[in-house]
Amino acid sequence: MSLIFAPLFSGSSGNALYVGTGAGGVLVDAGASGRNILAELNRAGVPQSQIRAILITHAHSDHVGGAGVLCRRLRVPIFATEGTWQEMHQKVGAIPQEMQCRVRAGENFYLAGLDIMPFAIPHDAGEPVGYSFRAGRLKAAVATDLGRIESGWFDEIAGSDIVLLEANHDVEMLRAGPYPYDLKRRILSSRGHLSNDEAGLAAVKLAETGCRTVLLGHLSKENNFPDLAFQTVAMHLENAGWIVGRDVRLDVARRDGLSGVYRLEDDNAPV
Ligand SMILES: [Zn+2]
Ligand SMILES: [Zn+2]
Repeated sequence: MSLIFAPLFSGSSGNALYVGTGAGGVLVDAGASGRNILAELNRAGVPQSQIRAILITHAHSDHVGGAGVLCRRLRVPIFATEGTWQEMHQKVGAIPQEMQCRVRAGENFYLAGLDIMPFAIPHDAGEPVGYSFRAGRLKAAVATDLGRIESGWFDEIAGSDIVLLEANHDVEMLRAGPYPYDLKRRILSSRGHLSNDEAGLAAVKLAETGCRTVLLGHLSKENNFPDLAFQTVAMHLENAGWIVGRDVRLDVARRDGLSGVYRLEDDNAPV
């Protein structure tokens, strides 16, 4: 059993992630153009024919911008919560009824050899969710666009082998930066985005549950730097006694293209 995890775009200007097994896979969000997502998928070595569905976390444009185009082009269904569908309709164009699939937080479903669990997240959109994925004993999760650390979503990603975890902003950069007051308040709120320090606290908790690869993602272009996000989270891990690079692999996902193809193998799986 193997699980492939390939962030194609990650940042506040566009998000898309491929998660798959030998039996195909899914896109989580399609917030870049359809053409650019297909180009990065190609760079990841994933044929378009592998895509079985597009899962949407929430209806913000940086998560759905290319979803309609890809649904029609690849002829695959879109999975989203009812609240996301309501906000997403005018952003994705006409989607055939049979391509519109509803998910609910807490109700798992199966696609492409993956046991997929949507879970509720605190964010300022209609019924937003993250997703965790199980393939045999392997587990992966995507947890971005989170206003605060809380047990509900954290329990769903605990024990993952690999997590794409939000490290959106440095609080001081955000406070001193150019964003209008209301936008700053929204980002800092409990339904906004996780800061680097909050990502550090979550990474420590994840490491305690056995997670050995943390990818920091959804970085703000204006209020963060990849090195700053990395150093802040690494400091939290090392203060808690974890050696980054030995005990825990820590990477920063790229905003503008493929970050890498992470291939997890379940060595204990029966052959
Ligand atoms: Zn977002
Ligand atoms: Zn969002």
